Amino acid sequence: MSEWISVLAVFWLLWAVDGARLAPGRSFTLTGGGMAGSLRWWPWRRVRVRFSRLSLPGLAPGSWRLPVAEVPVSLSPIGISNQPAGAAGRPGEPPVIAQAWRWEEIREVGLAGGWVFVNGVRFAPDTGHLTPRELLALAGTTGEERERRLRALLQRWFRPTQLRRRVRVLIGRTRTPAGLNAVTLAGLVGISAYVAGDVAAWIPTRWSEGAVVALPWFLLGLLVIHLGAVILAGRALRRLRPVRPQKRGANLLSALLLPPQALRLRALAGDGFFPVMHPLAAIVALGRPRQVEEWAFNVVADLRWPLAPENGSPLDREIAGWFRAELERRVAALLDGVGLRSEGLLAPPVPDGPASCRYCPRCRDQFGSGPAVCPNGVTLLPLDRR
Ligand SMILES: [Zn+2]
Repeated sequence: MSEWISVLAVFWLLWAVDGARLAPGRSFTLTGGGMAGSLRWWPWRRVRVRFSRLSLPGLAPGSWRLPVAEVPVSLSPIGISNQPAGAAGRPGEPPVIAQAWRWEEIREVGLAGGWVFVNGVRFAPDTGHLTPRELLALAGTTGEERERRLRALLQRWFRPTQLRRRVRVLIGRTRTPAGLNAVTLAGLVGISAYVAGDVAAWIPTRWSEGAVVALPWFLLGLLVIHLGAVILAGRALRRLRPVRPQKRGANLLSALLLPPQALRLRALAGDGFFPVMHPLAAIVALGRPRQVEEWAFNVVADLRWPLAPENGSPLDREIAGWFRAELERRVAALLDGVGLRSEGLLAPPVPDGPASCRYCPRCRDQFGSGPAVCPNGVTLLPLDRR
């Protein structure tokens, strides 16, 4: 039986690293086993929000995964800059060299190595929020038409209802493959426990001999379930129209040949199925109230007290001003939908000691009577001691 231990160890290792992705920058990954709100007590159903360079899928066979990047640019009717605004993640990405273009100056836009290039210069990470085609189309219009298109583009990043519906559709269409995945996983956990726990040694010999005979048949059964799950997932893919670039076909083929990769077929089918969103819209759509409050505070604080880029130009500031005002309106409407207000989120914290008399409204650190600005350069506010 000992040779089985190494086979199973390799299997679980491949299963553990399946779907892990390391990105060049930090971004959000939401994972969950079902719809937020249903069966919340069941840990696998809980929606998790992670902000990290490492994106991991859920552990449960029925979990979905939604990667959401921060919006890497600021837009306005006069131009575009690579300074983000309203960032939800902390700490945010280190500032890139500030770069801004007026729309009239934009002649050429391209994609290479995960970056958007404007006029041949590396501009911003390609997160899908603004495709080169959309960027060129915006540059090609003027006046009111451009403003209308900009607002429509921003609106598309704030559609929690649509996102929730897509998650529901994904769950519905992948129910059978996900169920078969659960069966396979349970079977393999059973075999692993039997082998690793050396169960054969302390059950009657008659039983352990029976197990040796049954094992090949048991594995054959799991193989049949594996094939069935992959075939059904392939059929589901045809009905789940992707809206973003994806590699589902290649991933499914690789899963067919390497069973440890075929135990998260729902997450695999969800690749490219979710539209580009603002991270906060995704968290509002799927997260729990506590998560929404936490990340909403970050966004609102970043809009009110942005960190200025070191080499920012007047053009940068003008673009950022328009963009922030637009985002602020949309964020307020989004939060209004879940009964939150920016003012409530920004309420001063409770003093953490008798010496605290000022606080930073952005990072919530508290200070004594010494400094007037926080290390990030944000002017401190007085702390109400009542
Ligand atoms: Zn601060």
